[in-house]
Amino acid sequence: MTDTDTSSERAGTDAPAATDRAIPDEYDLPSDADPVVCDHCGAPFAEAELLALHRGIDHADALDASERDAFEDAYESEEERLRLFRLKALGALVFLYFGLLITYSVFA
Ligand SMILES: [Zn+2]
Repeated sequence: MTDTDTSSERAGTDAPAATDRAIPDEYDLPSDADPVVCDHCGAPFAEAELLALHRGIDHADALDASERDAFEDAYESEEERLRLFRLKALGALVFLYFGLLITYSVFA
């Protein structure tokens, strides 16, 4: 584990910096990993946005105002990405359905 100042700078959010809390042995990280670590349970995350989502879901009662704002921003961002994924998945299914239907009508 390296210093946490660089990981909090990399995060670029309003979330407070992660501490040097030890990462539990249950997590198997690559040697070159530079995770942000949860202050409450020590869970490592690759990005500060994932840490903000974890805090909001697993430690909702222990959040201060800035952590709650970071969670809400991360949650909205995640919702937008999920909505876009669902639209793309629906488009792919419609394309596949009509593609197979037209192929069947031509060759059957
Ligand atoms: Zn945690």
